[in-house]
Amino acid sequence: MKYYSLNKQSPAVDFKDATILGQAPDKGLYFPETIPVKDKEWIGRIEQMADEDIAFDVIKPYVGSTIPDEKLRTIVKETLSFPIPLVELNKQISSLELFHGPTLAFKDIGARFMSRCLGYFLSGESKKVTVLVATSGDTGGAVANGFLGVEGVEVVILYPSGKVSPVQEKQLTSLGKNIKALEVDGSFDDCQQLVKQAFADEALRRNIFLTSANSINVARWLPQQFYYFLAWKQWKDKHNPPVISVPSGNFGNICAGILANASGLPVNHFIAACNANDVVTNYLETGEYKTRTAIPTLSNAMDVGNPSNFVRILEIFHQQLPDLKKKLSSATVSDTETMQAIKDIFDKHQYLADPHGAVGYLALDRYLSEHVDLKGFFLETAHPVKFPDAVQTATGKPVVMPPSLKSLMNEKKKSLFMKPDYNHLAHILLSGS
Ligand SMILES: *Cc1c(COP(=O)(O)O)cnc(C)c1O
Repeated sequence: MKYYSLNKQSPAVDFKDATILGQAPDKGLYFPETIPVKDKEWIGRIEQMADEDIAFDVIKPYVGSTIPDEKLRTIVKETLSFPIPLVELNKQISSLELFHGPTLAFKDIGARFMSRCLGYFLSGESKKVTVLVATSGDTGGAVANGFLGVEGVEVVILYPSGKVSPVQEKQLTSLGKNIKALEVDGSFDDCQQLVKQAFADEALRRNIFLTSANSINVARWLPQQFYYFLAWKQWKDKHNPPVISVPSGNFGNICAGILANASGLPVNHFIAACNANDVVTNYLETGEYKTRTAIPTLSNAMDVGNPSNFVRILEIFHQQLPDLKKKLSSATVSDTETMQAIKDIFDKHQYLADPHGAVGYLALDRYLSEHVDLKGFFLETAHPVKFPDAVQTATGKPVVMPPSLKSLMNEKKKSLFMKPDYNHLAHILLSGS
């Protein structure tokens, strides 16, 4: 399988190079030259297959011969080392729980897969790679955890001081080893700006090999298809495929679902559930794609004003907006509605949802009330304990911390405090200290 750049100015590459580079030299996102199709026979026997076999079959055509089968099986198995249950709230609505991984967020799946692929590609090479990421919360923890101890890889994470939750901060800063946390005296935008400057600094890049680990990397994006197939395995009413509501920010997660559907996975409809950052909702209504600066909300992992993966969704539909609109709707949910939704889900179903999942729930509930014969599920992308204040305020009940988190909170924070000063960052990256 080859991947071409959506900007069409760089040569096509294989999975290995696409993973190592992250983004094409022309700044385009990589996209597979063909979308592999799973036939009806394969889809029909999904209930009899082991989760790892499903995931292996899904990812194999994308990886091609860049990783030997046996190694790829191990990577897939280690990626899926926790359960992904589809939990029924009532006859019409279920929750696909993606928060049972080590950092309690769905990003664990993509980060675990990508880190292991990169580790394999770099093994036996003298080249050292520095993974540089800015995080507003969840990405940093999942990436740090996924790459911990991977040889040949240094991870540098920038996060805005005082603007991530206490749990998120501990997930970033307590690991040590090959993970370096930089606490920036500024905003998330400042962090992102510093990262962009580093990627644009050719002198720096002649000295160290930089790559990114956000969802534009194919090795993080593509394995997110796994759990859409695993949800279908658990879906009871095979004659009535689900409506799937995905809490969306950068649109990598929903794009993976749409790709799975293009490969033959039965899905009735997709809903992009957004908070006040509603670029895509507006686009589907008006045909005008207007990006803007992100607005802070309760579902902060979705505060994105220019969703990078949307171009991939357009590519799947060959840039045909009418076709896209048949398969995808977008809904906007305010913070007030999010709080009300957390309360409703708890009161009606005795189920605790985090603010992101609650946005997904409400968007689905609205859609299904207009399509009463259909059923669906929303993706619960984070554990409610990661957002205890909102959940506690909405439900009036304290959120109980799992034991793993209690011990994490007792770990020591190891971070380097810095002003948003690019020269300082460049110095840290070059000196490796
Ligand atoms: C990252 C994140 C999202 C948004 O996912 P995208 O792939 O960027 O659309 C939603 N919920 C949570 C909890 C997240 O961490």
